[in-house]
Amino acid sequence: MRPLLMDMTRDELGALLEGLPKYRLDQLYSFVIQGSEYNDMTSLPKSLLSTLSEEYDATGVSILEVRTAPDGTEKYLFTLRDGNIIEGVLMTYKYGRTICVSTQVGCRMNCAFCASGIDGRVRDLTAGEILGQITEVNRRHGGGVKDKRFITNVVLMGSGEPLDNYDNVVKFLGLVRDGIGISLRNISLSTSGLVPNIYRLADEIGGVTLTISLHAPLDEIRDKIMPVNKAYPILDLIKATKYYAQKTGRRVIFEYVMLKGVNDTRECAIALAGLLKGLPAHVNLINLNYVEEKKLLPCSKKQTYEFMALLEKLGVSVTVRRSLGSEVAGACGQLRRSVLRGETDE
Ligand code: SAH
Repeated sequence: MRPLLMDMTRDELGALLEGLPKYRLDQLYSFVIQGSEYNDMTSLPKSLLSTLSEEYDATGVSILEVRTAPDGTEKYLFTLRDGNIIEGVLMTYKYGRTICVSTQVGCRMNCAFCASGIDGRVRDLTAGEILGQITEVNRRHGGGVKDKRFITNVVLMGSGEPLDNYDNVVKFLGLVRDGIGISLRNISLSTSGLVPNIYRLADEIGGVTLTISLHAPLDEIRDKIMPVNKAYPILDLIKATKYYAQKTGRRVIFEYVMLKGVNDTRECAIALAGLLKGLPAHVNLINLNYVEEKKLLPCSKKQTYEFMALLEKLGVSVTVRRSLGSEVAGACGQLRRSVLRGETDE
């Protein structure tokens, strides 16, 4: 595939316009960062556009379908230029609008409860393809950049493992901060625990809220539900997380999907509280979105709230995550899979 204008920083775009007055770069950058196509860029000379379009595509993502849940959550399916489909979710909260974006087509982490990994990883998304999900949703809602932006927060929690696509994700973080004007503080990066890249992120970027998909506090359980744990066991992960928290001064969020009969015992709550001692951490308990292809079952509300109460008693900061958009297959990879199976009209 051809490179995208949207993959480029302002300086990289500048290098393409050598010899032209600076206002041309201002114009081009402003078009690109808002997700414009060449034929929208009417104030730029035709000759320039035709030279650029010989080598570059402007954008790489388009909206295929939007489903809106009764709570207002919007689930997006996006098409990429090579025909691959990815998904994203727009959630509206009191304090703003959060978009959940995908970082890869598919995923190779193969977690036992997740739909994204069922067919493995197809390919990484480029920085511009991650950004394109934001610009498309922004445009659909009439938003622009900086004070005109519609989206206020970003979570990298769609399909894919962001730290398995490190360079593109880091470039994306720079583009979204400098171009759209969303500060790194308002961006959460969720990882299944690729330890070496947690250190890199702490040293090279910082700023973003780190979210760890922990889901089990004991290696014998986590090994079974998250294969990544065999490479990077829990204590190594916690050590990296501590480093991240110290280096950035930020609290780390731990995600914990409640799995019936797997990670919902008293022993698990005690082990979890022990692990997090001394770490500025918050635990999000998550209701499992049932995935047909997987055999795992959700816990009842009662069990989840009892688990939460026990954690609280043990001194852990914890909440049960409000689950938005389950009517529109809000969980990772579920809508894409239903489309790949040909069930879009269900
Ligand atoms: N690969 C990254 C980001 C994508 S997954 C990660 O693992 O964090 C985003 C979050 O959704 C993770 O916490 C993941 O464990 C969770 N998740 C995946 N499948 C789910 C399901 N069926 N129900 C609830 N949460 C799920």
